[in-house]
Amino acid sequence: MAQRKENIVMFPFMAQGHIIPFLALARRLEETNKYTITLVNTPLNLKKLKSSLPQNSSIHLLEIPFNSVEHDLPPCTENTDSIPYHLFPKFLQASASLEPHFKKLISELVNEQNGQKPLCIITDTFLGWCKETAQEYGIFHAIFIGGGGFGFACLYSMLLNLPHRSTDSDEFLLPDFPEASTLHVTQISPYLRATDGSDSFSVFYKKLLLLWKDADGILVNTVEELDKIGLMYFKRKFGRPVWPIGPVLLSTESRAGARKEYGISTELCKKWLDTKPYTSVLYVSFGSQNTIAASQMMQLAMALEASGKNFIWVVRPPIGFDINSEFKANKWLPRGFEERIKCSGQGLVVHKWAPQVEILSHRSVSAFLSHCGWNSVLEALSHGVPIIGWPLAAEQFYNSKLLEEEMGVCVEIARGMSCEVLKEDLSAKIELVMNETEKGTDLRNKANEVKVIIKNAVRNETNFKGSSVKAMDQFLNAALIMRQMEKGASKD
Ligand code: UDP
Repeated sequence: MAQRKENIVMFPFMAQGHIIPFLALARRLEETNKYTITLVNTPLNLKKLKSSLPQNSSIHLLEIPFNSVEHDLPPCTENTDSIPYHLFPKFLQASASLEPHFKKLISELVNEQNGQKPLCIITDTFLGWCKETAQEYGIFHAIFIGGGGFGFACLYSMLLNLPHRSTDSDEFLLPDFPEASTLHVTQISPYLRATDGSDSFSVFYKKLLLLWKDADGILVNTVEELDKIGLMYFKRKFGRPVWPIGPVLLSTESRAGARKEYGISTELCKKWLDTKPYTSVLYVSFGSQNTIAASQMMQLAMALEASGKNFIWVVRPPIGFDINSEFKANKWLPRGFEERIKCSGQGLVVHKWAPQVEILSHRSVSAFLSHCGWNSVLEALSHGVPIIGWPLAAEQFYNSKLLEEEMGVCVEIARGMSCEVLKEDLSAKIELVMNETEKGTDLRNKANEVKVIIKNAVRNETNFKGSSVKAMDQFLNAALIMRQMEKGASKD
């Protein structure tokens, strides 16, 4: 008789940058053919996800109820991509209201399966409270960091060692790091600089982070060979297994519906890229939830045009404009900009959302001006594309530091949403990276070396298993061992 597959429950936070790596991990586990996957999320997020799953996918989508209005949030707010940035703390706090619903879902799931419990529960870094339910049912619980080890380690350390205000120097030493690491004051988000840790959001946030140490282990969407300091930090901090299983990336077919409609079709985008010479295009995007200031947007537009380089720019409304509002090119961009670059063929302005992976994998793309969100970083490096960093928030500052100082695949162009940027400086950096300068060549070479390291990490052959494949095996074995121990205990 065929053995029943073990079930794995997965629960990402309601944000594109979180849902995407969870979905990618779900697909990876599903492809082993050994597990059934239950992915928990709120109705609107699941609706989007449903359309992105291939027809033959067996991933089961399980709804958890959430009413944003009850939390003083706009109606139908179920994802950070549809709220202005300042509402994020409220949204995060509201997500804690999901805990009793999650407990109920697990209880129903166990009942439906005649008492058979899921093999493990994998939850988001923001949803560490799921541990309590996992513990109640004796289920293995892992936290999945969809971001990088170094970025999250810095964020963790900064948040738990507040305040960071009283210092004579512009450099901050990360107090509990395995190697002396410093951050510059401009790499610390305005929120972390302003708070002494006693405001209600900081207290809430710190409590969430402290829950990580209760998990049975931590999965990280990174590659061991590239992210040693961050991984070491978590190993020492928690004394629990840390499994670097990355890059966990979504296949092209699964990406299409992982978000709303594209601002441009993949075909048109590819067609445009096909007309451009090899490594001649700069791709510009600040991810799914961040944006820059209106004045920065103007300078960037002028810099792109002045650089003469081909580009694709995903434009989201600048700070202060409703993210769901109509696209106001006249207000946000220099007069006639869109028409000019369209007519000259220099660039494509894409409204809100572009098929990013398809763009990054195209031979015409030579660099990525990015906010250094971790998914974007992995997507670029997996294709050997160097990065021009413009970190805007949270761990993006630390990702950029890792990329520039440790990996040598990035040049930072600006920092934050309020820094003053000048067209001349921006275009000089763009040219430095895109031209055949020593720096540009070095960046491209390093990015290609990193691409090979990433490729090897996920090699799964009879005679060779990459570091990420081994880490995934170790994680699944740990969950199985706990399952066997549970069974043994219930027989006794
Ligand atoms: N993304 C995309 N098209 C866009 C903007 C973003 O496909 O126009 C995807 C991108 O490929 C990545 C994710 O959205 O997988 C953004 O995640 P990341 O961690 O880079 O940044 P975040 O949005 O979480 O800040």
